[in-house]
Amino acid sequence: MRYFSFSEYLRKTFNAKVYRVTVDAGFTCPNRDGTKGTGGCIYCYAGSEYNPDKRLLSVEEQIAKGIERVKRRYGAEKFLVYFQAFTNTYAPVEKLKEIYDTVRKFSEVVGIIIGTRPDCVPDEVLELINSYTEDYQVWIEYGLESPHFKSLRWMNRRHGVSDFIDAVLRTRRFEKIKICAHVILGIPLEDEEDMLETADFLSAIRVDGVKIHPLHVIKNTKLAEIYEREKFSLLELNSYVNLAVRFIERLRPDIVVQRVTGEAPEDLLIAPEWCSHREKNRVINLIRKRMEELDTYQGAKCRFLSMVR
Ligand code: SF4
Repeated sequence: MRYFSFSEYLRKTFNAKVYRVTVDAGFTCPNRDGTKGTGGCIYCYAGSEYNPDKRLLSVEEQIAKGIERVKRRYGAEKFLVYFQAFTNTYAPVEKLKEIYDTVRKFSEVVGIIIGTRPDCVPDEVLELINSYTEDYQVWIEYGLESPHFKSLRWMNRRHGVSDFIDAVLRTRRFEKIKICAHVILGIPLEDEEDMLETADFLSAIRVDGVKIHPLHVIKNTKLAEIYEREKFSLLELNSYVNLAVRFIERLRPDIVVQRVTGEAPEDLLIAPEWCSHREKNRVINLIRKRMEELDTYQGAKCRFLSMVR
């Protein structure tokens, strides 16, 4: 492998077929309810959950159904429960505990992934999350998207890079919690060097994982309105593949690259068309192929190798 993929990481860690089961636990988001802002991030479609019916089921039902589905489809043996939709730390600690504790009903679950905003993890929530590390592998996924404030403002993220740094440093006090950062490439305000600096930043701050995807436009979002009005340019497939390769080269080799492209349902995607579910594997294969052609690998241009643990 030219980069340290999540599947490789899971295989090495658990020595079994491990798959994610995604859950919508019914949260909202402080960037939607007025606490931080209203309207949400400009690209946000239902907090990243494309199936609105999912939250009609209880968390327990969603986990049970998800496990059955991935067992049938992929022969999965163990599972990570991924609290993905909206901001999954945005509730009182007692409520969070009740929700997270649902995983204890499933003996095949070996890990928990909690997606959230970096400005929404008070210490008592981190302490609660840390309590699960006794029995599970635990990841927190922080939506950074970009360390460049101009981009955060453009996307209406309503937090700064300082919130991300603060969240990472406070999370680091709990050694067993793993930290993953979400990054969007192709934000129109950023040039290539800005985007590659994001890889440097993540390497320097020592996250454990990263998820990258290209900016893409989904129907019924603020971004769709802006795109319609301004027709700003989105990355072409070939440019994205080259950029993703250069980004991965700048990442420390021990960061797990959990995602290298975006994927949206065809009926909701406006542009670019190669960001659909259907195209996901093609994009991944193109990135791998380009790395082969260039005979390059993750960390080849990392400036922070001396800091690798
Ligand atoms: S923080 Fe997440 S859930 Fe909230 S508006 Fe932004 S993308 Fe949507």
